[in-house]
Amino acid sequence: MRPDMAPIIIVGTGLAGYGAARALRRVDTGTPLVIVSADGGEFYTKPALSEAFGTGRTPATLPNGAAEAMAAQLKAIVRARTRVTAVEPQAHRVRIGDEALEYSRLVLAVGANQVRVPLAGSAADRVVTVNSLDDYARFRALVAGKHSVAIIGAGLIGCEFANDLTGAGFKVELIDVAAQPLPRLLPPEAAAMLRDRLGAAGVGWHLGTSVAAVDGDGDALAVTLAGGTVLRADIVLSAIGLRPETTLARAAGIDVGRGIAVDRYLRSSAPDVYALGDCAEVQGLVLPFVMPIGHASRALAGTLSGKPAPVEYPAMPVLVKTRVCPAIVSPPAAGAAGEWRVTREEDGVKALFVDAGGRLLGYALVGAAAGERARLTPQLPPVLAAA
Ligand SMILES: Cc1cc2nc3c(=O)[nH]c(=O)nc-3n(C[C@H](O)[C@H](O)[C@H](O)COP(=O)(O)OP(=O)(O)OC[C@H]3O[C@@H](n4cnc5c(N)ncnc54)[C@H](O)[C@@H]3O)c2cc1C
Repeated sequence: MRPDMAPIIIVGTGLAGYGAARALRRVDTGTPLVIVSADGGEFYTKPALSEAFGTGRTPATLPNGAAEAMAAQLKAIVRARTRVTAVEPQAHRVRIGDEALEYSRLVLAVGANQVRVPLAGSAADRVVTVNSLDDYARFRALVAGKHSVAIIGAGLIGCEFANDLTGAGFKVELIDVAAQPLPRLLPPEAAAMLRDRLGAAGVGWHLGTSVAAVDGDGDALAVTLAGGTVLRADIVLSAIGLRPETTLARAAGIDVGRGIAVDRYLRSSAPDVYALGDCAEVQGLVLPFVMPIGHASRALAGTLSGKPAPVEYPAMPVLVKTRVCPAIVSPPAAGAAGEWRVTREEDGVKALFVDAGGRLLGYALVGAAAGERARLTPQLPPVLAAA
C-alpha cells in the first residue's frame, strides 16, 4: 500500500486517543482511521474513577460507549484488547505481534503508568494501583465487603480516593513522605485545610513518613511505616505518581525525555509520528491532566487534516474532587519567581502566587475560596502562549 493510502493509526483509547479521533472527525470524515487499544476500548472519563462511590457509579456504569459504538461514531476501526508491540517508523508500520499494520500518520496516545516503589514484605505484590477502568474494576471487586484501605501517596489521586472511600464507609489511612497533602500543587496553609477537612471526615493521616513493608496478616495486610508504626488494612492502594509510557517510542528510536518528546505540532522525532496526552512531553511540558488533552486534540486534528496548528495552552486550572473540601489549583510554572500570598477566610484559603510586579502567576483556592476561580483564571498567564 502506498504510505499516503494507509490509514491514520491512533494507539490508545483514553481521553487522548478518542479525543484526537473525535477532533479529527470534526474536520475530516473521510480519511481511514484505525484505533488500536490494549484495553477494552470503552469510552470513559478517567477522573470519574476517583469519585465513583460518591456519584453512585460502578465499573459497569462508568463507560459512556462500548468499543463498537465508538467505532460507529468515529467511522473508524477500533481494535480493542490489542496491544501494539512495536513501531517501525522507517517502514511506517506498527506491529501487533507478527501482524504488521501500515500507517500514513501514527498518533501515540498510550498514557502513563502508575509509579511503583519497590516495597519489602511478604505481601508487597498485593499493593494495587488504579489508572484505568480495568484497574478500577479489579479494585472494586477487591474492596467489596471489606472495611479499610491504606493509600500510599497524598497527591490528587490519593486524596480523591481517600475522600471517596471515606464517604463510602471505609476506614482510610493516607500515607505520604511529604509533610502535607498535594505537595506539588498546594502551599502549606492551603494543604492544611484539606488535611483537616479530610481528617474530620475520618481519614487517618501519616505524613512525613514512608511505607517500609507490606506483609500478610491473615486476610488483611500489615503496613509497616518507616518509623516502625504498623497499620492494618484490608487493601493497600498506591498512588504515588504517574510516569509517561515511553516503551514503544524508545524502542523505535524516537526521542524521549520525561515523555515522548514532541514539538508544538505534537510531532515526534520520527516522521509522521505524533503523541499527545499523558505519554507526551509537549515542548518540555508533561501535563497529565484532562484540559491539555482537549487543546492538543484540536491542534492535532488541524495538523493531520492539512492545516498545521501549533498547540496553545491557556491557564488550565485543575479541580481536586475532594467533596469535603474542594480545591482548584493552577500552579505557577516550574521555577517561576514569586511568592505565595495566603489569605485565610472563614471557610476557605485563598493562596495567590504573584511575581515582584504583583502579577498573578498561579493560585490555589481551597474550600469556599474555590468560588473565585472564574474571576481569577482570566488573570493567569497562558501555560504555552501563542508562538
Ligand atoms: C483516578 C484518576 C483521577 C483523575 N482525575 C483528574 C482530574 O480530576 N482532572 C484532570 O485534569 N485529570 C485527572 N486525572 C488525569 C487524567 O485522567 C489523565 O490525564 C487522562 O485521562 C489521560 O488520558 P490518556 O488518553 O493520555 O491516557 P490513558 O487514559 O491512560 O490511555 C492510554 C491508552 O493507551 C492504551 N495503550 C497503552 N499502551 C498500548 C499499546 N502498546 N498498545 C495498544 N494500546 C496501548 C491503553 O490501553 C489506553 O487505552 C485523573 C487520573 C486518575 C487515574
